[in-house]
Amino acid sequence: MSENTKNEKMEAIVSLAKRRGFIYQGSDIYGGLSGTWDFGPLGVALKRNIMNLWWKMFVSDREDMYGVDAAILMNQKVWKASGHVDTFSDPLVECGNCKARFRADQVDTSKCPTCGKEGTMGEARQFNMMFKTIVGPKYLSVDRKQEEYIDVAEIKFRSKKDGSSSGTCDINNDSHELNGLSLYDKESVSYLRPETAQGIFTNYKNIVDCFYPDLPFGIAQQGKAFRNEISPRDFIFRSREFEQMEIEYFVNPNNWEEAFDMWRKLVWDWCDAIGLPRESVHEKDIPADELAHYSKRTIDFMFDFPIGREELLGLAYRTDFDLGNIQREAGKSMDYVIKGTNEKLVPHVIEPSFGVERALMAVLSTAYIEDEVNGEKRIYLKLPEHLAPIKFAVSPLLKNKPELVAKAREVYSTLKKKHGAVMWDDNGNIGKRYRRQDEIGTPHCVVIDFDTLENDTVTIRDRDTTEQKRVAISEL
Ligand code: ATP
Repeated sequence: MSENTKNEKMEAIVSLAKRRGFIYQGSDIYGGLSGTWDFGPLGVALKRNIMNLWWKMFVSDREDMYGVDAAILMNQKVWKASGHVDTFSDPLVECGNCKARFRADQVDTSKCPTCGKEGTMGEARQFNMMFKTIVGPKYLSVDRKQEEYIDVAEIKFRSKKDGSSSGTCDINNDSHELNGLSLYDKESVSYLRPETAQGIFTNYKNIVDCFYPDLPFGIAQQGKAFRNEISPRDFIFRSREFEQMEIEYFVNPNNWEEAFDMWRKLVWDWCDAIGLPRESVHEKDIPADELAHYSKRTIDFMFDFPIGREELLGLAYRTDFDLGNIQREAGKSMDYVIKGTNEKLVPHVIEPSFGVERALMAVLSTAYIEDEVNGEKRIYLKLPEHLAPIKFAVSPLLKNKPELVAKAREVYSTLKKKHGAVMWDDNGNIGKRYRRQDEIGTPHCVVIDFDTLENDTVTIRDRDTTEQKRVAISEL
């Protein structure tokens, strides 16, 4: 695909997502908030279908998996021990001329991509991507005696030491500082989690103590993650708030390769299950000299998105790095006693880490098809049926014939009870309804006509072939 065609396809998907109620820019009504996206009724249904399928495949259908749902806000010690406070950063460069900021590894730093001036980009510095926040109303000046609350959201502040520092400060003051003095209690700092993985590691001991699973076993979590990305881009591909589905699979270090291979196969099964063509998914084995210091092996699974070949998900062997850190920093043993023996070990970890939005974007870009029906251009989403937000659309042939409407309502209720994701659609003529349902990927459109009243059969139209068949209502 040429660059233009790629961009056109991406734009067409973004436009369809907005037009048909899948995904909107976050806070759009106020001009948006970069890197945030709101999921509309169809988007949330598609997203849940993806997440539920993952949970079924990797948690509820397996004997060796335990699900958790940890808090998003965690004790700051978690992020110190994990290395995020010190190292979870991207290199940031700023243009001295127009002040635009970029991720140094994503732009040609000889020339500013915004103003086009050459030689204006400064030195790269590390920008930590965690969103900092303050937990509780502990928003203090340096000395508790010096501060006076008006309410929790505003602090009247007066320094008695030299009389020079006084004023009021909003609690959401970006710098958390006034006249060079810190306005919060450092102990109350927390972060919106930048990954779900740490909420798994911090629960490892709980799971071992409560369930004492056989080794190997895994703990899984789905949920929001937040990263203050320098340049959010490409629709939902790189957002500041997104959803992850992560597994930490605890193994005897002697058997890590076996477990790694098992997860590698399972990742391919997952790609099949969400309908990604195998030829669009590629393994990128990260070379030894580019591996994170704690990883002995990492494979990034890349997907041919319309924006190019980019990371879909990751699979990493993280050794005992995380449990080792917790053991050291929290001072609690992370030992696992091998059943039937006195042998103890700190398990090693295989981590498959999936991004929900990237899965959804891969699904949407695979499903998006433009073809021609009866000489007219048609857009449709060829979504796998189990992921489609709506499985059936039900319409009366004519909406001004009460007997057809009544019968169609009856069929709609029956199908809704049976399949849940069923839509009532009586807007516009039948042709328009089909087009609309094609665009949201509804596999079946059911039309109730005068024959239905006679013999309880309906017309069912197939999204992909546009073929129509006559079937009995009881067969739907
Ligand atoms: P990238 O190199 O693209 O920034 P990463 O290697 O930092 O990604 P991980 O930390 O391994 O990503 O996160 C695991 C998964 O979470 C990624 O494979 C991706 O699917 C998803 N993910 C990470 N960052 C984002 C983001 N900003 N927006 C959407 N999904 C993301």
